[in-house]
Amino acid sequence: MVGVTHNITLIPGDGIGPEVAEAAVRVIDEAGVKIDWDRVECSEKIIKETGESVPTPVLRSLERNRVGLKGPVTTPIGGGYQSVNVALRKRLDLYANVRPVRTVPNLRTRFQDVNIDMVIFRENTEDLYSGLELEVVNDVVTSLKVITRKASLRIAKAAFEYTQQMGRKKVTAIHKANIMKLSDGLFLKCCREIAAGFPDITYKELIVDNASMQLVARPETFDVLVLPNLYGDIVSDLAAGLVGGLGVVPGGNIGEQHAVFESVHGSAPDIAGHGIANPTALLLSSVMMLQHIQEVAAADRLRHAVEEVYREGKTLTPDVGGKATTNEFADAVIAHLK
Ligand code: NAD
Repeated sequence: MVGVTHNITLIPGDGIGPEVAEAAVRVIDEAGVKIDWDRVECSEKIIKETGESVPTPVLRSLERNRVGLKGPVTTPIGGGYQSVNVALRKRLDLYANVRPVRTVPNLRTRFQDVNIDMVIFRENTEDLYSGLELEVVNDVVTSLKVITRKASLRIAKAAFEYTQQMGRKKVTAIHKANIMKLSDGLFLKCCREIAAGFPDITYKELIVDNASMQLVARPETFDVLVLPNLYGDIVSDLAAGLVGGLGVVPGGNIGEQHAVFESVHGSAPDIAGHGIANPTALLLSSVMMLQHIQEVAAADRLRHAVEEVYREGKTLTPDVGGKATTNEFADAVIAHLK
């Protein structure tokens, strides 16, 4: 891919978003990847002005470029506009939420002595998130859990293809089919069908409650996980907690045509403008983005450089116990790219 210029949408977002986004742009540039960034504004201010959860120029840019890097956007709680992330997932059919969870060297956590390296594939479009709720009679409500063959097959396929591409070894499907025999049963059936096409990859199944216990007791035994939406939501945050929390894990929302990579933390209004935000999550999301656009060597170098900065422990931001600014952290990463 040497010499190719990629067109990528950059959504800096709100709060610390622009600070970490500019650090990521600088670092990616130093990693030698040529990117023509299409900067578009998707912020609380512009959403309020336009009344659109995803402003049209943002959507058009992502439709054109097919790949985006996104910082956090402030979302009002309890009312106001729909979350930008939910709106983007729906508009671009980003059906796979992918979250690699890896031990960050030298970062103090309860699990710092364990080598954790797993990737979570969460189905992003259905299950209990279909929004089909009904008050049957007064004080009795139902919420419909929708599981389809189409959505289950495509998330399972995405997980297995990724496992093969990355030279990983094992996929674990997580379910509660002992109780939800039809819905989770269909999810499992689809996972088994896809697994049959990948005989070199070990396929396992775990009931979600047991999986949660195993994740805490033996996190190093997990490789790639595939889950329906709700279990995926809960388990991916549980897994993030094992390696230091949402501030250090990346994320990608991926569909057939489009992919948006983003840090999973919020806009951190309490520290915005102070220049001390930790850009790790967006840098690791950039690693995923570089893999997605086939810049695999640059992706490996960038991830290694971020890990080296943690290993040295001299240039860390205040949230992880250091005194460095966002730019000093980015400079340290750049120094390790050389
Ligand atoms: P938050 O993640 O913004 O902040 C929680 C705490 O973590 C704060 O103390 C903050 O300073 C710290 N923090 C977060 N990211 C950090 C970083 N990179 N470096 C250093 N410290 C960091 O969560 P919140 O306060 O609940 O949410 C703030 C706003 O962000 C809300 O409007 C929320 O809706 C929005 N949000 C957006 C996204 C997104 O766009 N992906 C995700 C989550 C929250």
